[in-house]
Amino acid sequence: MTSLYRLPLTRLSGVGTKKEELFARLGIESIGDLIRFYPRSYEDWRSPCLIADAPANGLCCVKAYVEKARPPARIRGGMTIFRIKVCDGYDYMTVTFFNQKYVYEKLSAGGEFLFYGIVRSGDGGREMTSPAVSSPEGCGIHPVYPQTAGLSTKQIENAVRQAVNMLPEKTNDPLPGWILEQYGLCPLDFAVRRIHFPESMEDVRKARERLAFEEMLILQLGMAMLKGAGRRKAACMRIEKDFTEEFFSLLPFSPTGAQRRAAMECISDMSRTDHPMNRLIQGDVGSGKTAVAAAVCYSAVKNGMQCAMMAPTEILASQHFDSLSGLLSGTGIRISLLTGSLTAAKKREVYQLIENGGTDIVIGTHALISESVRFRSLGLVITDEQHRFGVAQRAALIAKGESPHIMVMSATPIPRTLALMIFGDLDLSVLDEMPPGRKKVDTFLIDSAKRQRAFGFLKKQVDSGRQCYIVCPLVEQNDSELQSAEEYAEKLKDTPLGSCRTAILHGRMKAKEKEAVMAAFSSGEIQVLISTTVIEVGINVPDATVMMIENAERFGLSQLHQLRGRVGRGSDKSYCIMVSDSEGAVTRERLKVMCMTNDGFRIADEDLRLRGPGDFFGSRQHGLPELKVAGMSDMVILDQTQDAARSILEKDPELSDKEHRGLMFEIKRLFGKSGDIPFFSESP
Ligand code: ADP
Ligand code: MG
Repeated sequence: MTSLYRLPLTRLSGVGTKKEELFARLGIESIGDLIRFYPRSYEDWRSPCLIADAPANGLCCVKAYVEKARPPARIRGGMTIFRIKVCDGYDYMTVTFFNQKYVYEKLSAGGEFLFYGIVRSGDGGREMTSPAVSSPEGCGIHPVYPQTAGLSTKQIENAVRQAVNMLPEKTNDPLPGWILEQYGLCPLDFAVRRIHFPESMEDVRKARERLAFEEMLILQLGMAMLKGAGRRKAACMRIEKDFTEEFFSLLPFSPTGAQRRAAMECISDMSRTDHPMNRLIQGDVGSGKTAVAAAVCYSAVKNGMQCAMMAPTEILASQHFDSLSGLLSGTGIRISLLTGSLTAAKKREVYQLIENGGTDIVIGTHALISESVRFRSLGLVITDEQHRFGVAQRAALIAKGESPHIMVMSATPIPRTLALMIFGDLDLSVLDEMPPGRKKVDTFLIDSAKRQRAFGFLKKQVDSGRQCYIVCPLVEQNDSELQSAEEYAEKLKDTPLGSCRTAILHGRMKAKEKEAVMAAFSSGEIQVLISTTVIEVGINVPDATVMMIENAERFGLSQLHQLRGRVGRGSDKSYCIMVSDSEGAVTRERLKVMCMTNDGFRIADEDLRLRGPGDFFGSRQHGLPELKVAGMSDMVILDQTQDAARSILEKDPELSDKEHRGLMFEIKRLFGKSGDIPFFSESP
């Protein structure tokens, strides 16, 4: 199929430059792309029903003959309405079309037809509005395509039909024969023909299964190669003796079962000699990831390794520095902080310590990947809040050691399927247990009529020495983001909060300005923080007890959960107030989940269920290529493709075999299109 990607759509009859542009809007730029543009759903025309048996409000196919065509009538807006009375031998039904003169002409000649649509009961009996029409022999399953303005599903179908006919006798299948056999998958040729033009719904199932498998496999292989997984079989520093218990006994609290398990899994990874650890520690806010990191660092240092921990912002880095210093005080382990804002002299001092082994653990920001940083024996690299780092940044830090162990900490609870997709080859430890005594953040959903009362509540909190976050309404264009925040702050002046010390934080501020505002909030100088975009991940302000979120309906549940995680970090009872006037049933159901549970994983599952994978992270923050067929909840295929990807890479890490040429081609195609993943240009 390779060469079909080079054929322009204008080769098809009925597609000129104008249509070509419309297709481009759907991401279709070649015949090959068109063949890989799959139907959204199907219309089953095979078993027409009687008018009387039509499901209420459900789509169905009715076979009927034309009884009488009424004369066309002009209606407002320059539209013409065509009504035709049809009969299935028992009952009558009125079929209505707008402006579709050619359909009217075809039908008014009389005869029998199939009508596909929804049968409704109107004043004049049953009716069907703007149905799809076909001749009786047009029975079958019709594909329904995602559309764009100016391009109907019928027009797409016509183009696809021609494109599929251009497929060569024998298609090059990217999946090697043994994979097809082992997993019982149909060949590509069958799959692409039948996903467009199935003869049965079983065809559709088979085709989808195969295409989803291919897609997930390509994704996993691509992610794995991107991370250099195939190349990371290397000798590494290893842990000879485990000191975890010794470390735990030094803690002022006893670790949770989940923390013990995660630490143990890391130590076990790091005790191997043939390849370094590559593990994701996933835990909700407050689940105690830092203690796990400290425990692992403790053993690593005692076994002669240096450790580096990178955080996305200066504030987070210094918070980590403080908590690790606390956890490891009195152990003799030396910790340094390295951030961009240190003076040049101070930086040089830290560089020295890192290079001559005068420090064991370095915590910092991107400053860690500066060229001047040279480790003496870097054995463990930890990144926090990892999805905020680019592949290149992580790779640069990793390159500072010789195959160091890698630990990634993520505070975004994501369903397992999604985690595997995004983090591909990482092993996963989940902190699914909260330290005891953690208080639930009481969460309320209110409408704007209650906003003033809520402000009164916030004022009371401020008066008793607490602090509040307000996430102000989102705006459509970035340009007015600042304006929206300023207007909101202005309006606050006439509320009980008018006398409080407030500040604004928005996405267009420079990193330095943001950090300054966050620092002022952190020190208590600012009482109410008005923020437009998402507040810094992971920031810890224990005195902040209220998170108020305007336009809550515009956020994903996981985002709301992240926002709510900014409060409830101290000893005081904390609250989350979501403001929304939305009356949509699904929206309200979603927001109510927030009021019911504080469990991030449950929330993530609900979010995935209610919104689907596409919207999960909002605007594709995860940087994954878009999947067309595969659903994120397709666990079986996911497991199978993980196995398959592993066996393929074991045999052929670079995918250079002839047998894998097709896979490589598809990987480049998938990742190339996602734009933001620079393929293979970033390997360490
Ligand atoms: P996160 O997973 O969000 O990074 P932290 O590591 O910051 O969570 O831990 C949150 C708080 O909980 C810290 O103050 C930490 O000292 C405390 N903590 C961690 N583990 C336990 C535990 N097992 N028992 C009691 N408190 C704990
Ligand atoms: Mg943390």
